[in-house]
Amino acid sequence: MLVDTHCHLTNVRFDQDRATVLANARATGCHRLLTIGTGCDDAERARALAQEHPDLIAAAAGLDPFSCHQAGAAIDQEFARLESLLAAGGFVAVGECGLEYHHAVCDHPSQALHLERHCDLARRLRLPLILHVREAHHDLIPLLARQEGLRGVVHSFSGGPAEARAYLDLGWHLAFNGTVTYARNDQLRAAAALVPADRLLIETDAPYLPPTPHRGRRNEPAHVALVADALAECRAERPDDLRAWTARNACLLFGLPLPAGF
Ligand SMILES: [Zn+2]
Repeated sequence: MLVDTHCHLTNVRFDQDRATVLANARATGCHRLLTIGTGCDDAERARALAQEHPDLIAAAAGLDPFSCHQAGAAIDQEFARLESLLAAGGFVAVGECGLEYHHAVCDHPSQALHLERHCDLARRLRLPLILHVREAHHDLIPLLARQEGLRGVVHSFSGGPAEARAYLDLGWHLAFNGTVTYARNDQLRAAAALVPADRLLIETDAPYLPPTPHRGRRNEPAHVALVADALAECRAERPDDLRAWTARNACLLFGLPLPAGF
């Protein structure tokens, strides 16, 4: 029992063998994949894919910092389109959206405004949020502290124990991926070890961030099993328990049917 709570199945790198990638995921025991639309066009593709595989795939829609930057002066139209997409249904979450300080995209105050617009959407539509944060914990944590009535996940968590505690205190879930297998990431593993079992999620972020020993190649949802094993090890938990907890957390957070046995 495994749920990959964050992958990009619409990515062009899956165009040649998407059916095989989905079959690999099922064969590894994935019973649910959440594919993330990173802009309106991508969100429409994500929803179509979810409708083709309703027993396996669910979709989320947001304007990630790269899409916001690309929209430029048309950002208001993009938000209007996002809102009508989300209101039409077929999505289980708003996102991904957030703060990206590593790559050159919009200036930081604009990114904060874009994120706050996603927060408003999530509150109005009563959907969880999927947050992207890169080198911006120092601004994201206070921004979230000013928000109320939200729930969701900090995806691809990249901080240490102090950042993890701050997000947990604000009620957020934390999702870990293949980066927990990277040798240098001791602080990340220390953070993963302190997350309460009911706030922990796993993901791949495929086609990005492949776990060891697949680094340098395309990542795919089947590798979420390696993420689960690595997390179980650094938390000193039984792998079956970790799989069950994280699957249950994902279903509860995103409103997906619980797998048989719960
Ligand atoms: Zn993503």
